[in-house]
Amino acid sequence: MFMLVSFVSLFFVTLIFVLLFFIKLIQVNVSSLRFMKSNVIMMSCSVFFIYLFFSYFRARPHVQTQTSWNAPIMWELMFDNNLYDRKHKEANTTVALTVFAVGRYLEAYLKTFLTSAEEHFMLGLPVTYFVFTDLPEQVPEITLAPQRNIIIVKVEKHTRWQDISMMRMKTISEVIDTVLQHKFTYVFCFDVDQIFKGRFGSEALGESVALLHAHYYKLPKYRFTYDRNPESKAYMTEGDYYYHAAIFGGTCEKVKALADYCYVNIMEDKLKNVEALWHDESHLNKYFWLNKPTKLLSPEYCWDEYISNTEDILVKRLVWAPKDYEKLRTR
Ligand code: UDP
Ligand code: MN
Repeated sequence: MFMLVSFVSLFFVTLIFVLLFFIKLIQVNVSSLRFMKSNVIMMSCSVFFIYLFFSYFRARPHVQTQTSWNAPIMWELMFDNNLYDRKHKEANTTVALTVFAVGRYLEAYLKTFLTSAEEHFMLGLPVTYFVFTDLPEQVPEITLAPQRNIIIVKVEKHTRWQDISMMRMKTISEVIDTVLQHKFTYVFCFDVDQIFKGRFGSEALGESVALLHAHYYKLPKYRFTYDRNPESKAYMTEGDYYYHAAIFGGTCEKVKALADYCYVNIMEDKLKNVEALWHDESHLNKYFWLNKPTKLLSPEYCWDEYISNTEDILVKRLVWAPKDYEKLRTR
């Protein structure tokens, strides 16, 4: 409703200015300086309102679609799915997806995560899921489409859930080094407590890809929950956005650089007996502040259904699964 009212009023204001401008133009009196001055003002106003008017015809006028360093922010309507798919098929792009399901998270989330990924994640491209778990024998059987594989890797279970989350960075770096870099063009790393609901396709691929956090993408910067403890390596006073560590990706080289950076800094913190506010996510935010991502995913790529204001979300591509920390997390 608000959009309609502002659109109509903008339309009429633009119309009035354009009309006034033409009326002035008809009464031309070139020698009059005063006339010229008022005409310049009139013309600038017209151009401004015409610009505003036409900005309503941009694909997504109400959200930011590009960063200050010219990285695209991927919102629905901004791109052509087929174009991206064709480009990546021609380039023989291959994608690795890493996901951790340790302890009770396996039973609670893994099956839904994988079956929904088979319906929506990078359809048409060769995809290999790398599932890291302490319970390999309990990984459910999933029917996979052709050109899609699953590899299960056993990992140790850290006692604290914070360490399970943070130490993913070490494992991701190792698997890129030993396996992924030789076989896959891109790697995407996901939290397991999420469900694919719509296309999560090749448009999301890029050299270094970060995700805008659903709870922060609309908030002013001072509300971002960066790590504010100068003792921690994740400490930062300013940043661009608040990124969500539930999804990040890119080329093997870039994701390895991110994972190494986070792991080294997490370990340095441990030596000093400090822990960043949001664990691996705080370090990831620091990394992306120092190393700007080349593509940002909008919260359409990772939406929390508890957020009531959904006016910007045209497609829910993936949503948060219900959290049950009390039952699922180790202490
Ligand atoms: N994780 C896991 N077992 C645990 C805790 C975490 O497998 O006991 C993995 C899982 O992939 C999970 C991710 O680490 O999605 C991050 O933890 P969580 O989702 O609890 O963090 P949040 O989304 O609440 O920040
Ligand atoms: Mn999660």
